[in-house]
Amino acid sequence: MGTNPRVLIWNEYLHEIENEEVAGLYPNGIHGTLAEAFAERGGFDVQTATLREANHGVTPERLAETDVMLWWGHKAHAEVADETAIMVQEAVLSGMGLVVLHSGHMSKPFKRLMGTHGTLRWREADEKERLWNLRPDHPILEGVPEYVELAQEEMYGERFDIPEPDELLMMSWFQGGEVFRSVCTWRRGLGRVVYVRPGHETYPTYHDPMIRRIVVQAAAWATARVRQDASRCPNTTSFEPVPNPTKEHII
Ligand code: ZN
Repeated sequence: MGTNPRVLIWNEYLHEIENEEVAGLYPNGIHGTLAEAFAERGGFDVQTATLREANHGVTPERLAETDVMLWWGHKAHAEVADETAIMVQEAVLSGMGLVVLHSGHMSKPFKRLMGTHGTLRWREADEKERLWNLRPDHPILEGVPEYVELAQEEMYGERFDIPEPDELLMMSWFQGGEVFRSVCTWRRGLGRVVYVRPGHETYPTYHDPMIRRIVVQAAAWATARVRQDASRCPNTTSFEPVPNPTKEHII
């Protein structure tokens, strides 16, 4: 405890329950496998939450005690309550970090924070993905070589409907010929948002040491630096004398 970043891993947790192949790869859920990656690295206090828990496991109190949240969702984005998505968005604007994984590109919190559709082209064809490291100087890519190869992944291709990233850290090439902006960062209010592409549920991607490294380092980078409610515009008295200090605001 103490100064460790407090991590909340949110997972839809449906594929792992409903599909044997996915259950074989992620017997404790994708959230369980990601939690192991943080434990392996050490220095994080990790909790998990899933869609079908009460309030999806997300309350304002819980988010107030979260420094960085991870979000994996796919087939049930619509089941996530709008209030939950707004809660996550507000937490980010007040300083919480958010790492959006793979099919989270269409999740409600990500779309709210980006203001775009988050759409892309895709294909499931067991093809090779090569992620190129564009920013070896960046803390998220510390220890990551020139490129990372995944023998089989789902293809995501451009155009990815996102606002221009503040930082583009990795670019993917796929065997079938497409390219994709795979690791991107944005600042939103006082918070940091990272998108990390790989992680389709029918592949062992979250067991790959390099992908685990990137996800954990993305969370470390996005961890809240401050937490401050920025939702109000205060009417304030002046520091120095002003001509008409008691002037009424005319509505
Ligand atoms: Zn997928």
